[in-house]
Amino acid sequence: MSSPAPADPSLSLSPVTRHPLQLIRARYLLPIAGAPAIEDGALLIVDGRIAAVGCYSELFNRTAEVIDYGDAVILPPLVNAHCHLELTDFPQWTAECGETIEPESFVGWIRRLIRVRRSLGADPVPASVTAGIRQLLATGTGAVGDILATPGALAPLLASPLYGRIFFETIGLDEERFIPALAAALASARSLAYPLSGGLSPHSTYTVSSRHLEQAIRTGLPLAIHCAESPEESLFLREGRGPIATELYAAAGWPLPEHAPGLSPVGWLAAHGALSPQTLLIHGVQVDAVDAAVIAASGATVVLCPRSNARLGVGTAPIGLYKKAGVSLALGTDSLASNTSLSLWEEIAFARSVYPELSPGELLSIATCGGAQALGLEQEMGALTVGSGAHLQVLTAATFPPVVELAEWLCGAEHQVAALWLGGIERLRQVVPC
Ligand SMILES: [Zn+2]
Repeated sequence: MSSPAPADPSLSLSPVTRHPLQLIRARYLLPIAGAPAIEDGALLIVDGRIAAVGCYSELFNRTAEVIDYGDAVILPPLVNAHCHLELTDFPQWTAECGETIEPESFVGWIRRLIRVRRSLGADPVPASVTAGIRQLLATGTGAVGDILATPGALAPLLASPLYGRIFFETIGLDEERFIPALAAALASARSLAYPLSGGLSPHSTYTVSSRHLEQAIRTGLPLAIHCAESPEESLFLREGRGPIATELYAAAGWPLPEHAPGLSPVGWLAAHGALSPQTLLIHGVQVDAVDAAVIAASGATVVLCPRSNARLGVGTAPIGLYKKAGVSLALGTDSLASNTSLSLWEEIAFARSVYPELSPGELLSIATCGGAQALGLEQEMGALTVGSGAHLQVLTAATFPPVVELAEWLCGAEHQVAALWLGGIERLRQVVPC
């Protein structure tokens, strides 16, 4: 699957205009949310919201402006439930810092990430966020769950048409540092307003203290926490040893806890009351059946990041356990520090190859409805249903499958994003090479 490069000159923002009654038509329309694909499908849009979904011939309205995308598929925008847009330029930064050798371990990867970020400071971050936003829009993503460690880089997100939630990251064990950092993160999160809401991201189970985590929970804001990503993390939480203790803590100058919690990463979050329907548990790879049941009972969402997990060699999330327990799932790319693109279509194609337990329909639902639910946008986005906002993407391709094979084709075939609508406005139209 090919994706337009972010700097593609054919990518241009369309003017912000809207006819009060619009009929949007294409060869196929896939509403998601369990609804079958519709041939010669159409959406009737009234004042920026979906008023009807069906066949073009049924919905034809003489007074509507008809926008006919022809040989194309209309479906909801994708929802990238976990990324770090500020790291979009990370590959260039590693070259500038001479850090081009790929680390051989998970902890080595974290330590390189810290070194590169510290060497650059905050100045290049807003441009990196802007580059990330362009990649998301160009690849059909309309909402994002973004982790932001540099609050000063918020402006490009506020200026973008994206929906979603920004989680302000805090990290560390030193109370003198994390208390003011949490206060600043809280102020940033509370400054946000729809369509971008605010949350907190106490970074992970091994980089925040119990007290840090409890302070973040007490704010009542939605949380996004990296959890159960690597075997090293599990070893550290259960036994207090391994490379996180000997390399990461030593390099950071953090004192080791007197006693290891003796819990799984999921168990540690649950013991502190961090799991709720507002919590995004990022990665969820090192999880057993007990953990899966705990997550399901809490209502938290696991955000799967399969390409990042493969790149860092940390394993594959146990989809069978999650399905059996009834865990809510969403999909994310993570950052370009551990992935090759921010295209969720490419993430879906990879997920199809490593999660055989998920059908194409389930995978598409996770990448749309699942993400929207995780970010509190389920009434607005994620499915083309009456009453939802008029958010959609239009895909084109050289050839199309029969309608019954559409979901499978979407998860793996060659297609490109030709247009993206957010909030009832065509925000992006791309010239797609034939
Ligand atoms: Zn992450």
